[in-house]
Amino acid sequence: MSSAEMRHAILKEIAQEKLDNLPKLAKVKFGENTFNDQLMREKLPKDVYKKLKQTIKSGAKLDLSIANSVAHAMKEWAMSKGVDHFTHWFQPQTGLTAEKHDSFFEIESDGQVIERFKGDQLVQGEPDASSFPSGGRRTTFEARGYTMWDPSSPAFIMEGPNGGGILCIPSVFISYTGEALDKKTPLLRSMEAINKSALKVLRLFGNKTANRVVTTVGTEQEYFLIDKRYYNLRPDLRITGRTLIGAEPPKGQQLEDHYFGSIKERVLAFMQDAEQELYKLGVPAKTRHNEVAPHQYEIAPIFAELNIGADRNQLIMEVLRKVANRHGLALLLHEKPFKGINGSGKHNNWSIADDNGNNLLDPGKTPEENLQFLVFLVAILHAVYKYGDLLRASIASAGNDHRLGANEAPPAIMSVFLGERLTEILDDIKQGKELKKTEEFIIDLGISKLPSILRDNTDRNRTSPFAFTGNKFEFRAVGSAASISLPNTVLSAAVADSLDLLVAEIEKELNGSTEFNATVLKVLQKYIIETEPIRFEGNNYSKEWEEEAAKRGLPNVRKTAHALKAFIDPKNMDMLIRQKVFSKEEIEARYHIHLEQYVKTLDIEVDTLCDLIQTFVLPAALKYQNQLVNNIKNVQSISAQIKMDAEPLNETMIMVNKAITELNKRCKTLHETLQKGLAITDIEEQAVFFADHIPDLLESTREPADQLESILPDDVWPLPKYAEMLFIM
Ligand code: ADP
Ligand code: MG
Repeated sequence: MSSAEMRHAILKEIAQEKLDNLPKLAKVKFGENTFNDQLMREKLPKDVYKKLKQTIKSGAKLDLSIANSVAHAMKEWAMSKGVDHFTHWFQPQTGLTAEKHDSFFEIESDGQVIERFKGDQLVQGEPDASSFPSGGRRTTFEARGYTMWDPSSPAFIMEGPNGGGILCIPSVFISYTGEALDKKTPLLRSMEAINKSALKVLRLFGNKTANRVVTTVGTEQEYFLIDKRYYNLRPDLRITGRTLIGAEPPKGQQLEDHYFGSIKERVLAFMQDAEQELYKLGVPAKTRHNEVAPHQYEIAPIFAELNIGADRNQLIMEVLRKVANRHGLALLLHEKPFKGINGSGKHNNWSIADDNGNNLLDPGKTPEENLQFLVFLVAILHAVYKYGDLLRASIASAGNDHRLGANEAPPAIMSVFLGERLTEILDDIKQGKELKKTEEFIIDLGISKLPSILRDNTDRNRTSPFAFTGNKFEFRAVGSAASISLPNTVLSAAVADSLDLLVAEIEKELNGSTEFNATVLKVLQKYIIETEPIRFEGNNYSKEWEEEAAKRGLPNVRKTAHALKAFIDPKNMDMLIRQKVFSKEEIEARYHIHLEQYVKTLDIEVDTLCDLIQTFVLPAALKYQNQLVNNIKNVQSISAQIKMDAEPLNETMIMVNKAITELNKRCKTLHETLQKGLAITDIEEQAVFFADHIPDLLESTREPADQLESILPDDVWPLPKYAEMLFIM
């Protein structure tokens, strides 16, 4: 069967499919596949449980006798659920998760077979680190690293496809010299940075009861689903995650609703199944809905502490992929799978809370609480103002470059949306005004000049990359395929640093003064003025904002290669080092890894596109050309007897011919440019060369291919079309 015939066969199959034989959902218990706190309390000796909890809280190294006891209980529990393997589950620089399974199975010296899992195996593992990206900083030998259990995130069982399963132990991944080789270690460090700095603010405001401040995160994950059979016929989707060619479908397809019913059912069945798997893993999937684009959806869990939230987002991506497969669907996490169709992102909801459960970004009810809230708010403004370029770098990827600034996602310009009411309050403080007495602003002038701040639920700005949404900030520019670790690490570090700055300044100003509120307001005023350029309430997608932002001096860096430079900007490096989140070497390693990933991604895209054109598009076009030649000959051969109009045939022939020539030419240019780029040895220079040439060339090369798709007869076109992938399921 030719590919074109397969396309048609799939279409027929889908039309005939019924959803009758989907397996019925079984009842599951939330967290049944996690070794969670409740289970630990149940299964561990009291003193062991207590010591473990203490260790988790203090972050100290685990005592081996305790580790042995925990490992034993874990193994017994896992084996009772049919598990026979374990793995340290960690997050290397690839942005994915890594696992290497070992069985519990051991052979004693007397030949006896036993199942064993010891404390040291639980606490520490040694994967061969040499093949993970390390930023070219270490030789293979030095890249040796080990994984270490992160007991603050619960161990879980990943079920095997035909029974059994793997006990997964969330871990960090570090080198023998203590360097972070993963995404998790810096994330944990940034949580510590926030804890330290935010506690200083609480103490400044006389809070003596809070002992810890945690960072919380809830991630709204967008994704596409298409029929797996179509996916299998698209090498570009399989290899690069996005379609490198494909003519945009005629407008109005979305409005045809005959397929709606069936989409809903098949997708809902998938969602229910996926959510159930997530429940078992203790991931509280809460929200699901259709997204803007056809076949685009969203899932959001209830928020959690940052490291757990990051683990859960990885699990969500993994589970969605597995379950989709089971349902004959392909999950597309790429930021831009289809040209001309909205891409996908991740809304990263970020907040901080004390250990008494108070959300510190919730405007309070009393003026004192409000003042404290404003210190946090202004610190965040300052963080985005001063380190916006670094935040941009933290979300940079070849995939995300397609979205940022493409009128569908927040732009590459970092700005903050606060809403009308907060804006007014900040403006009043800036002008040193007596604050307005309106019905919305309940003023208590007795203590300070500050009104209580009512929640502003009225206006929402969907176009802002960084929006205040009542009691949290929503960082909306994160890519859908990316790990959320780096952006959150950078954001948390920057906020911690800005909090330090504000606290130090307030303390200095307070020296000798008894006017606490007035002093705090004075410092806030200074920073409200300084950070004003970063605040924007208007339409972030508009041309006017681009111009306005340029006037304000805000960077607008569209391409990853350029954006990544922010990592090694001394201002940013100093901050990350000061907050003990990264060492200089760790930052440089990441900078290099991201440059390499960028170059590799584009390199693979070029190869894949050239291959697609050579082996799919051109053969189909030439076949049609040949048909046309024969047709024209036939028409000419009978022209003596019957007069026929050969003009339409000729016109088509000319169009096809032109497109083929153009495609050949552009393909050649693309290929030559790639070779030029690959010859550059300096990675920085190379990435910039790629950024300056490759994305544009990829676009121009696909044009004649897309044109051919709309000229060639349907029965010779070898690749599933947008209309099939996006409107049929
Ligand atoms: P939206 O109106 O933006 O969709 P939701 O209430 O649905 O807001 O929340 C979206 C995400 O934000 C969810 O994952 C939710 O758990 C998370 N979220 C809510 N409160 C917080 C918080 N304090 N810290 C971090 N994330 C939060
Ligand atoms: Mg939201």
